[in-house]
Amino acid sequence: MTADTPVTPDTADEPSVTFAELGIDPRVLAAVDDIGYETPTPIQAATIPVLLQGNDVVGLAQTGTGKTAAFAVPALSRLAELSDVNGVSRDTQVLVLAPTRELALQVGEAFSSYATHLEDFTVLPVYGGSPYGPQLAGLRRGAQVVVGTPGRVIDHLKKGSLDLSHLQYVVLDEADEMLRMGFAEDVEEILSQTPAEKQVALFSATMPPAIRKIAKKYLRSPQEITVKAKTTTGTNTRQRYLQVMGSHKMEAMTRILEVGDYDGVIVFVRTKAATEEVADRLKARGYAAAAINGDIPQNMRERTVEALREGKIDILVATDVAARGLDVERISLVVNYDIPHDTESYVHRIGRTGRAGRSGEAILFMTPREKYLLRAIEKATRQPVELMRMPSTEDVNQTRKQRFAQQITDTMESEDLTQFRELVEQYQDEHDVDAVEIAAAIAVMAQGGRPFFVEELPEPAPRSRDRERGRSDREGEGGPRREPRVEKGMATYRLAVGHRHRVSPGSIVGALTNEGGLSGGQIGAIDIRSTHTLVGLPENLPASTLDRLAGTRINGELIHLEADHGPVGGGRGRPKGTSSYQDRPRRNGPARGGESRGGYQGKRTDRDGDKPFRKPRHKSY
Ligand code: AMP
Repeated sequence: MTADTPVTPDTADEPSVTFAELGIDPRVLAAVDDIGYETPTPIQAATIPVLLQGNDVVGLAQTGTGKTAAFAVPALSRLAELSDVNGVSRDTQVLVLAPTRELALQVGEAFSSYATHLEDFTVLPVYGGSPYGPQLAGLRRGAQVVVGTPGRVIDHLKKGSLDLSHLQYVVLDEADEMLRMGFAEDVEEILSQTPAEKQVALFSATMPPAIRKIAKKYLRSPQEITVKAKTTTGTNTRQRYLQVMGSHKMEAMTRILEVGDYDGVIVFVRTKAATEEVADRLKARGYAAAAINGDIPQNMRERTVEALREGKIDILVATDVAARGLDVERISLVVNYDIPHDTESYVHRIGRTGRAGRSGEAILFMTPREKYLLRAIEKATRQPVELMRMPSTEDVNQTRKQRFAQQITDTMESEDLTQFRELVEQYQDEHDVDAVEIAAAIAVMAQGGRPFFVEELPEPAPRSRDRERGRSDREGEGGPRREPRVEKGMATYRLAVGHRHRVSPGSIVGALTNEGGLSGGQIGAIDIRSTHTLVGLPENLPASTLDRLAGTRINGELIHLEADHGPVGGGRGRPKGTSSYQDRPRRNGPARGGESRGGYQGKRTDRDGDKPFRKPRHKSY
């Protein structure tokens, strides 16, 4: 590894391990299982056992590789075991130093999510730019894990509010970034105040000499987890990437599918829960999609792949493990909905298209913070990945117009029009109106009240670094839970159906898109309560949309959509046990049809709510 070389983990020829095989404490393992990670990422598989054995580690990994769990999971395993021996202690035993407030919060949230089965556990983020009061109170109450920015940690040490004398474990996260931000002295100062007997893990995307120096001085015989790149990609696959926020991924995907002319499609996501969620959302938009993941029995997975091969379904939403070795000739597009953690996975994923000498396309969704991973992929594959732009509203509407015209032509050419021609002529005689008027009225009828044209995407609310990350976690990975927030331009609406009426996020999205003509990007957090549901939607919904939706039913119940007061999950908070659309882990497999299939009973059509006059094989529900 040379200085400043971005890391490219490579799992080639390595047998895949499971989390259960890594020696993690059962309580932490149970939390990882709840989140739904299927297998450890390469950095996790390599790092967790080494840290569990008590060794120091220098891990070369950047955001997106799963590095947070690589250090948080063994740290929590250690805490769990210590509390078994000594009883639960509130002393600070783990200190994580992170360069920014956003990363400190993110890491804190990750710790919480892996500690859900630990007794009396507290993690406290401490960072600059926010009042001392709550941090001091938190430190007084005691937190086993403190995640902080170096400057603020130093302040607390000076004030005597942070006691490091019981520290077992120190993590330097994004060490190169901390140095770049001028924290070198602070980091050294903090390390010099930690007990001699402790374990240290240092994570960095690059390895400049200054980091080597710190590693040499403060780490004891660290094991360096270095993963080298070795990859090749086929040349008959066009590779592009789209920079997209987590909250717009579904909209981007449906636009790409609508504007492009694809046959079979595979969509890769990171977790089992995300396969179900993304497949449900695609089904709600009228696509013939199914999920495959490691939880689904092998024979059922094979049946799903067969259905894809035969064209009974068009889109497979898969994890890396479930799609291993998949060979279906008609796959013309691979979507990396969540960017893979390592180059080898990327190469494997895009190798699912361009098969049997055909040409294929691969599109990678990348959130701004994941740029590093893209660069690593380009470097390892020695091929550029072109930037693509999101199909514009105009592109989509143009395609709809063309398809509308084509369907008229096809119908005139291939269908027997006799019966309807007579009816139209009869109507024209009786009402003395122009045939164009009649044709337009019939098109409106066929459209079933849904808008024909898509609308512009709402302007994204300005996001800070952590919001962007948090959102993409919820969207794609079923990662740590977060409270839903109301975006700018969005408002809270109330539906008169809830858990009692067995509604699900899928059935709600289905109703809103198919009946209301809303697009995925317009639907915010969904908070299902016992007798009602709160959902974030654009604040200025037209009266016609409200009327239409007020009369929609889910599971036979009128949803009575109306504006509500107060933010979703914000002022009200989300009570324990309620779910949000983005972060709810899902377990049902494709054979059970997904939640949207059962619930929504609006006006059913063979068409997607967004997409008029869809090809018939893209069945809705
Ligand atoms: P990090 O590199 O720690 O910032 O993690 C990037 C993303 O990967 C986060 O959203 C994690 O929730 C997710 N993640 C971490 N470990 C895994 C795993 N084993 N499988 C799938 N996703 C993971």
